[in-house]
Amino acid sequence: MMFPKLRDEKKRIASLHKLQLLDTPAEPAYDDIVQLAALICKVPIALITLLDENRQWFKARIGLSVQETPRSVAFCAHAVDRNDGLFLVPDAHQDDRFRENPLVTDDPNIRFYAGVPVGGPDGQPMGTICVLDREPRVITTEQQLALRVLGREVEAQFKIRDQFLQLQQMQAKRLRADIRLRENQRKLKTANNRLRELVRTDALTGIQNRRAFDESFRQAWNLSARIQQPLSVLMIDIDHFKSINDQYGHQVGDEVLKSIAGTLRENIRSTDMLFRYGGEEFIVLLPATEAEAALHVAEKLRTAIAAQPHHNIPATISIGLAAETAGTASHTETPLVRTADAALYFAKNAGRNRVEIYS
Ligand code: GH3
Ligand code: MG
Ligand code: MG
Repeated sequence: MMFPKLRDEKKRIASLHKLQLLDTPAEPAYDDIVQLAALICKVPIALITLLDENRQWFKARIGLSVQETPRSVAFCAHAVDRNDGLFLVPDAHQDDRFRENPLVTDDPNIRFYAGVPVGGPDGQPMGTICVLDREPRVITTEQQLALRVLGREVEAQFKIRDQFLQLQQMQAKRLRADIRLRENQRKLKTANNRLRELVRTDALTGIQNRRAFDESFRQAWNLSARIQQPLSVLMIDIDHFKSINDQYGHQVGDEVLKSIAGTLRENIRSTDMLFRYGGEEFIVLLPATEAEAALHVAEKLRTAIAAQPHHNIPATISIGLAAETAGTASHTETPLVRTADAALYFAKNAGRNRVEIYS
């Protein structure tokens, strides 16, 4: 058995599926409407049908036990395209289109049908609200009007459903955007941290640079003043480095610099901080360290450098030591570096490869 063809059937089916109502559980809003339709029209059967590709499916039903029927036998397939008109079959036995219909000849033995089409939010026909009986019947104009009103009520429910789905989609979209935003913020933070690290790192030796020293020194100074702890500084300069450059070339000089930086790093304590302060000058910051302990570290560094060649070239360093004892926080921060530098000058004058304390 064939069913009437509809215009834009593809679009109509797409709209119907977009509503996501097919095969959903019963809902009071729709159940109430079929209840009213049956009461008003005084019939045993009332349905809200959705016309799927090859079936009609009942969103709400009274007086019928099946949940769907093939579209080919559906009365609603005729009613759905009636542009707000009512589709009436007062007696199926007298109607050539339905006389042989299995719903008429067999259970549920339909004789009477009245259906109003219901449209989706975009106006596409979705299905019907209809009333049926096992007896032939006449339907009054008031009952017809009531059926149309109930049809509009069904359409209003479809609209609410559509708006609800749109809202859900918007929320999901926003959630996805939020996740993307947070992911980007995390990446930016990682990139910023990496950049900050790069800005504080000396490219040649990989140790912290002058900028990092300025920051760290200020922090160490403030902390030592606040908690009344000593603070020591070692100013380190490679001896006769110019002649290494002159003799072996700048590139070899670079390798020597790297090797010396590495040896210094290996020989400081974990709480001490090593920086490349200038061309071939380094600084070690020793928090909570008195002059005597700082001298011990300085001697250890000096002997470690002298003990082995660097890139096969013997080298030595001179070190100037300056120490701030606890409780003299009224001093400004610069003199500690300047005095370490002055001590270094003495070490150079005294013959190099030695440590001098500023006093
Ligand atoms: P002194 O014992 O008095 O310190 O003698 P010096 O030759 O080490 O002192 P000076 O300051 O005269 O020379 C330092 C040299 O370090 C000069 C400069 O060319 C070299 N230098 C500075 N930075 C670098 C660098 O990054 N790579 C290389 N290869 N050489 C550098
Ligand atoms: Mg120098
Ligand atoms: Mg030097």
